[in-house]
Amino acid sequence: MKHYSAFAIAREALRGHTGWERAWRAASPKKHYDVIIVGAGGHGLATAYYLGKNFGITNVAVIEKGWLGGGNTGRNTTIIRSNYLQDPSAAIYEKSRSLYETMSQDLNYNVMYSPRGVMMLAQTEHEVRGYRRTAHANALQGVETQFITPERVKELCPIIELKGPRYPVLGALWQPRAGTARHDAVAWGYARACSAMGMDIIQKCEVTGVRSENGRVTGVSTSKGEIGCDKLCMVVAGHSGHLAEMAGFRLPIESVALQALVSEPIKPCMDVVVMANTVHGYMSQSDKGEMVIGGGADGYNNYTQRGSFHHIEETVRALIETFPMISRLKMLRQWGGIVDMTGDRSPIISTTPLTGCFINCGWGTGGFKAIPGSGWATAEMIAKGTPGPLAAEFGLNRFREGRFIDESVAAGVAH
Ligand SMILES: Cc1cc2nc3c(=O)[nH]c(=O)nc-3n(C[C@H](O)[C@H](O)[C@H](O)COP(=O)(O)OP(=O)(O)OC[C@H]3O[C@@H](n4cnc5c(N)ncnc54)[C@H](O)[C@@H]3O)c2cc1C
Repeated sequence: MKHYSAFAIAREALRGHTGWERAWRAASPKKHYDVIIVGAGGHGLATAYYLGKNFGITNVAVIEKGWLGGGNTGRNTTIIRSNYLQDPSAAIYEKSRSLYETMSQDLNYNVMYSPRGVMMLAQTEHEVRGYRRTAHANALQGVETQFITPERVKELCPIIELKGPRYPVLGALWQPRAGTARHDAVAWGYARACSAMGMDIIQKCEVTGVRSENGRVTGVSTSKGEIGCDKLCMVVAGHSGHLAEMAGFRLPIESVALQALVSEPIKPCMDVVVMANTVHGYMSQSDKGEMVIGGGADGYNNYTQRGSFHHIEETVRALIETFPMISRLKMLRQWGGIVDMTGDRSPIISTTPLTGCFINCGWGTGGFKAIPGSGWATAEMIAKGTPGPLAAEFGLNRFREGRFIDESVAAGVAH
């Protein structure tokens, strides 16, 4: 695979861009792989990448029923932060955030990581206490955050209205090295790196069954035929319940549509990400100038990839309270993704009752930020057969033991 560089851009400019290679090979399934990963979203691709990079395991197939990155990875609002409350969460999200810092260099692919800073507004006394507590917890965890005053909020984001009609801004939890990245590029960068290591990324191939013998996984049935494997990892977000059923076990997961929308592009007016959990909305500005707006999750289970219309109204109303200047913006488009929600709003990275079969899911409304850290931890679990330190607390057994990692506040509206 040719290296991307400033020199390569100049060379291709001179010869009419005829020398670029495809970023990844189109692959057909082989009979057998050491590892099959189901789901070519960010988490599946990152898992494959770290299997190769950290453990030298490259006889790997990533099987995707649609196109790679076409699930939640290509549908999210790209917020990256690690200001979670509980120690296991802060550890994996901060590992992930730190991997984002060098991802473009590591993958030789510009993922446009922009550590512009993320603030979570405190608009009730309860939130002030909660975010002060999180800032203290983050200090102990080595995650750089601070609780800032309303004046500092205004300084960082001049378009904000501090004295909203319902909830004034009382302060914010501020993480200066949090930010955004280009979601498609994250999937494409990992896919290219995996393909360069010799892995097969097989698109338009739906897994329809999981095969096993004597309680051990032996392969999968797919729309492109039977494929054997020694180890299998399911990384399919909102479809995790279906895959688990194929493997013969149940998951404590609900699938719901979560939606987002973008406005028409305008001149740069906001260079931080702002989340307002009490009024329920969040916003950032894309490099193209569109205001990227996150809405709520549907209150019922579904697979529509659209999201209910009333959420658009609620979200826009909340954001007009917070940023009155957006009231005159036209909204350009709206979409949804199917997110996989656990009861404690923390992910599952786990072995399963079927030997050789692993699962990574439950990232819910906030797993884009976790892609590299999750891939790192899941690859370690697959390679060693048991979860390492980053994943140890996120096993399925926590639901049986009542050992929840409660992140419902950190997850909230916010991503
Ligand atoms: C509107 C919205 C906004 C969001 N905003 C943020 C945000 O700002 N920050 C953040 O951190 N997170 C955010 N998220 C959450 C984030 O997008 C997800 O947690 C993350 O992308 C999950 O990645 P994944 O790789 O696990 O899943 P996905 O990207 O969904 O990939 C799973 C893949 O599995 C494939 N698949 C399913 N079934 C099968 C099968 N039977 N056979 C083969 N393939 C199969 C699917 O086609 C899909 O491509 C948001 C999500 C949405 C929907």
